[in-house]
Amino acid sequence: MDIALAILASAIAMTVIVGVRYVAASAGFALATRLKHPGLYAGLDRQIRMEIGWSLASAAIYGIPAGIVAWGWKAHGWTRIYTDVHAWPLWYLPLSVFLYLFLHDTWFYWTHRAMHVPALFRRYHAVHHASRPPTAWAAMSFHWGEALSGAIVIPLLVFAIPIHVGALGLVLTIMTVMGVTNHMGWEIFPAWMWRGPLGGWLITASHHQRHHERYGCNYGLYFRFWDRLCGTDQGLGRFDPAARRMGPRRPAAADQRRAAGDAGA
Ligand SMILES: [Zn+2]
Ligand SMILES: [Zn+2]
Repeated sequence: MDIALAILASAIAMTVIVGVRYVAASAGFALATRLKHPGLYAGLDRQIRMEIGWSLASAAIYGIPAGIVAWGWKAHGWTRIYTDVHAWPLWYLPLSVFLYLFLHDTWFYWTHRAMHVPALFRRYHAVHHASRPPTAWAAMSFHWGEALSGAIVIPLLVFAIPIHVGALGLVLTIMTVMGVTNHMGWEIFPAWMWRGPLGGWLITASHHQRHHERYGCNYGLYFRFWDRLCGTDQGLGRFDPAARRMGPRRPAAADQRRAAGDAGA
């Protein structure tokens, strides 16, 4: 019984942490949006409420497996998370961060592509694409079924690949910041980063914007590697006002037809 309570407490604590992290990051970047591009989210209040609702539900879906694993780590030393920075060579720290990001990206690319198969799109992924255009609040706006597919990645990886607890914190921070900024509706990163050679491999808002415009392309999360390898990379989207006007007024049925038509792309 004590064990069940401890696991439950850990799952609740992690859900609260994920939820608060989401609210803090999204509120921070929404405020930055208001200062930098006043009126960008005008008329989207109803959509934003939906985005927040789905995202908070996702916080529980992400928090529960993470909480169970965190309990196992503390109580029984489960996982390959380490706290002594010298337990592995220092060069392994950046490598471990890259490995986690790359494997998460790989998982995301293929599950996201699967989500564009029409039946899965209608059942699950339409929730995420109901944000037209997405805002800083859409980072975790997923149907619970889709959230579940994302929630298991990091809790499984920590059993397979050693990572320092601080490096894991960095991975989670990158995950949160990129999730929010990729949906924000404008580029916060300097142009040399996303337009230059580095931008050919990294995903920022301009790249994910095109996914929300065209659906059947640009499926990646952090890197353009899989999109480029599989021929699904269609370059960078634009943030011009005309594209924004087209976005929110397109009927949902047209979106579904579009997802269906592009599913094999
Ligand atoms: Zn998205
Ligand atoms: Zn999608």
